[in-house]
Amino acid sequence: MTARPLRALISGAGIAGPVHAYWLKKAGLDVTIVERVPRLRREGQTIDVRNEGREIFDRMGITKSVMAVTTKELGVQFVGADGGIWGSFPEDGSDSFTSEIEIVRGELASILYEHTKEDVQYLFGDSITAIEQDASSVSVTFAKDGRREQYDLLIIADGLNSRTRALAFDQDVRAPIKVLNEWFAGFSFPKGPTDTDWAQWYNASGRRAILHRPDGFGRMRSLFAHIDYTEATRAIGSSKTSVQDQKKYWAQLYRDAGWESERLVKGMMESDDFYMYEVAQVKAEKWSTGRVVLLGDAASCPSPISGQGSNVAVVQAYVLAAMIAKYPNDHAAAFAEYETSMREWVEGIQSLPPGAPALAVPQTLTGILILNCVVYIGSALVNSGVINLFKRWFGRADKGFPLPPMSVFGKV
Ligand SMILES: Cc1cc2nc3c(=O)[nH]c(=O)nc-3n(C[C@H](O)[C@H](O)[C@H](O)COP(=O)(O)OP(=O)(O)OC[C@H]3O[C@@H](n4cnc5c(N)ncnc54)[C@H](O)[C@@H]3O)c2cc1C
Repeated sequence: MTARPLRALISGAGIAGPVHAYWLKKAGLDVTIVERVPRLRREGQTIDVRNEGREIFDRMGITKSVMAVTTKELGVQFVGADGGIWGSFPEDGSDSFTSEIEIVRGELASILYEHTKEDVQYLFGDSITAIEQDASSVSVTFAKDGRREQYDLLIIADGLNSRTRALAFDQDVRAPIKVLNEWFAGFSFPKGPTDTDWAQWYNASGRRAILHRPDGFGRMRSLFAHIDYTEATRAIGSSKTSVQDQKKYWAQLYRDAGWESERLVKGMMESDDFYMYEVAQVKAEKWSTGRVVLLGDAASCPSPISGQGSNVAVVQAYVLAAMIAKYPNDHAAAFAEYETSMREWVEGIQSLPPGAPALAVPQTLTGILILNCVVYIGSALVNSGVINLFKRWFGRADKGFPLPPMSVFGKV
């Protein structure tokens, strides 16, 4: 008699969930993904995947599809209120602000979904409302129809503010979140005559910054960033505030910000893909409890400031699947090795540059002038090839992660 395949339920069809599902299938598991939103979420700005992440895409056979839809961004320029450029940092392989794989989040999410949808069961528009587990299984209750189902493993990959994590660990949703007091408002609009294939970063007083980037499809993806130590922006970011009211808040905040802010505010008001996003980190004390394990942002979001949230999620997704393949009859051993082998690497990425994010988004015009002078000197040094100081500031802080070999999955 052949043993039945292990049944795994993944919560969250973002980036980590589908990559993990792909590799769990390779390990012979029966995999279902439940996604709260009734459709694939295509929102999000540019994200990047580097080094180990690129290697995993190679192993999945999707690098060609991914490379076909990268943003083709040339690098990042720091601009002043008059549009003058203080410094430029061109893309130069894997270590610069712009990496080889810069891709709009929704494009990557779509590729991962298309690549897995035949083999993985996707349940859109549903979520988990209760979790119970014993030595032999984990039972979940689904929100949509209240049904209960048993699985061998539950993988929580549903992001920063994971409610499923709160259920599994019996804690407040916000308990493992380290706030950074920064918020993003993201939106897209058609490229204008002054827009180029460079990303542009502009600072305005009052801890406001604009990051404006090409998406490779004739549109610009813009982010308004705001560091706010009061409760004002946090309150607006609550799911109780309508998108229209959130847009009005950001419009009022940015209207007088200078540079191209008036045009960008207009673009934001007209956009149909606006979303607000909290810049924060997750520092979960433990990544697993019994048959339940955390993955991606739900486990250890390093925040967009690290520039590596998606890369970490892709690598964790692969490594966790490799551990489950290595110990098919011992989830405790699989989860333990997943966490012990990855924690140090992940925590290295979570340790942000000194003063981040506040130093990069100054309060005063004097602070901005100082930052721009530093950018000017740094850009000259980097572009003359003298030092790699700025690459270190904006690039990876880690030493790389040794990926388990594909042979652990058997014949793939
Ligand atoms: C809409 C959106 C926009 C983003 N924009 C950016 C950006 O501009 N820049 C950036 O650096 N990072 C952005 N991110 C975060 C980035 O995708 C992640 O940091 C990284 O890719 C790790 O991915 P993840 O799969 O762990 O989490 P995520 O990509 O956040 O995916 C989590 C998924 O879980 C789903 N979900 C949430 N709650 C539940 C629930 N209770 N049950 C089931 N499913 C649930 C979400 O809808 C989402 O699809 C964005 C994430 C989202 C969801």
